Amino acid sequence: MRYVSTRGDAPIVDYTGALLAGLAFDGGLYVPESWPVLSDHQLEFCRDEPYHRCASEIIWLFAAGSAIKRPELDAICEAAYATFRDPEVVPTRSLGDDEHLLELFWGPTLSFKDVALQLLGRLFEHELTRTDDYVTIVGATSGDTGSAAIEACRDRAGIELVMLHPDGRVSDVQRRQMTTVTSANIHNMAVRGTFDDCQDMVKAMFADRPFREAVNLAAVNSINWARVSAQVVYYVRTAIRLGGGTPVSFTVPTGNFGNVLAAHIAKLMGAPIGRLVIASNSNDILNRTLDTGVMSMEGVVATSSPAMDIQVSSNFERLLFEFYGRDGEAIANDMTEFRSVGRLGLPDGVPKSLRGALAAGMATETQVIETIASMWNDHGLLVDPHTAVGLHVGRRSRLEGETMVYVATAHPSKFPDAVVEATGVEPDLPDHVKPILEMDERCLVVDQDLATVQSFVADLRS
Ligand SMILES: *Cc1c(COP(=O)(O)O)cnc(C)c1O
Repeated sequence: MRYVSTRGDAPIVDYTGALLAGLAFDGGLYVPESWPVLSDHQLEFCRDEPYHRCASEIIWLFAAGSAIKRPELDAICEAAYATFRDPEVVPTRSLGDDEHLLELFWGPTLSFKDVALQLLGRLFEHELTRTDDYVTIVGATSGDTGSAAIEACRDRAGIELVMLHPDGRVSDVQRRQMTTVTSANIHNMAVRGTFDDCQDMVKAMFADRPFREAVNLAAVNSINWARVSAQVVYYVRTAIRLGGGTPVSFTVPTGNFGNVLAAHIAKLMGAPIGRLVIASNSNDILNRTLDTGVMSMEGVVATSSPAMDIQVSSNFERLLFEFYGRDGEAIANDMTEFRSVGRLGLPDGVPKSLRGALAAGMATETQVIETIASMWNDHGLLVDPHTAVGLHVGRRSRLEGETMVYVATAHPSKFPDAVVEATGVEPDLPDHVKPILEMDERCLVVDQDLATVQSFVADLRS
């Protein structure tokens, strides 16, 4: 399998090339040259075999032809998913007639980010050991990506990881999950600024090509194709196991669009998937884009589901690339225009294609709290605010007789404030996470100054 950039002007690479590059040099995102199709045998295999075997079978469709060999991928998948606390890895829970929760939060750091990052850390280490090379991973996080990436990369050969988070703007649990990891290759920086300030510094470092090449800069956010490939797996598996061949619909709490994109890809590959519903909080640019055919940025509003407080969903570009007929030049022009003026009318036909592929809705803060309360009253279940956004939107959108799966993206104990507000119940941290409450923290607090951060990163290799 070979990978092309959505902006049509970067070298073609294989799976490990896409893994190491993160963002393509033309500013685009890597996507497979064509979409593989699942055979009936592969679908049955995914229904019947353990999760890690299904993962390897599917990811192999994307990784074949690169330096990684199938037995190596098998071993990496087995090790990655052995870290999950539930034997099913991604268990589903029935909510009664034809409604299910897909619990993606049983990994080491309690959000769905672990599903992809546990794999990514091992893939990086494998490739870097093979080539005797190194990368410097720099990321920005509003909480969940940072902890999942740190847990996945700690003490791995060939990796230095620098994670920026906005000082004082992540939850205590999220911060401690990052700052209590004192491995020599992990570097936490709390930036006096917002998440967007952190993100802008990371983007600036990627845009500085001499710097990027000097430190072998790499990315672990969902612009990295390998992450999306790992997420396709649970949609295939859940659809075939729950539907028995009849289509199953999913509602996905959405921020950067990586998770719902993986669902769309699973459907393109022939998994029995019906409708896909995007659920947004008050930051609902995707919802508005589908309604109006115009993408337009507004300021970010802080909500109880901070992982979805995003203006521009990076991975949306991968879907647009398909609906633009894979015209990289048109994507490059339109994305540049969008970034500079904050507004883009989508070309004829594209809004219709989008509405054919996706439904969308949003939940207000009040609706989120009401949903958490009603899940507790009706089912005795605590759900986190991101999951609640999906439950609210999905239930409103669900059709008569439709089997609907609500994707649960974080464990409730990671976002206790909204849960306590809605139910009065303090969600218990799972035992494997509790020790962080007592451990020492290590973190550098810095001003929002690119030169300071960049020279820190450069010095790691000198
Ligand atoms: C990252 C995250 C999301 C958003 O997922 P995207 O792939 O960025 O759309 C939703 N919920 C939680 C808990 C997350 O950590």
